[in-house]
Amino acid sequence: MLRAASLRVTRPRVAVLAAVHEHPHADTDSILSAVRADLGDVSHQAVYDVLRALTVAGLIRRIQPMGSLARYESRTGDNHHHVVCRSCGAIADADCAVGTTPCLTASHDHGFAIDEAEVIYWGWCPDCNARQPAIDRK
Ligand SMILES: [Zn+2]
Repeated sequence: MLRAASLRVTRPRVAVLAAVHEHPHADTDSILSAVRADLGDVSHQAVYDVLRALTVAGLIRRIQPMGSLARYESRTGDNHHHVVCRSCGAIADADCAVGTTPCLTASHDHGFAIDEAEVIYWGWCPDCNARQPAIDRK
């Protein structure tokens, strides 16, 4: 994947890419822990730099729901969305609403050439919902 994206293959890059594949929606600290378990001591800055390079190269995608740290995932380029729990912050993938990419058809595009839609569906995950049903929420 790195070579296909014209990136030099380095051990930190391979380790970060593997960590993002193994831990979808992980934040930087979780990825750092996974990379350290694999490579030993690696600086936070090094992992941060690799995450940025991989994101720019399109090998990973960075998402940042409101009120959350940046999260990374290896599913890129398929215009999928996310469901996020308002209570515990759990994140899951949600494919595009119906059909291929109907969400790319904005009601008014203001003349923009739209190529991506980033939708976050907010709500309560099954665990939090069971613990505190909608009727009891403030
Ligand atoms: Zn939850």
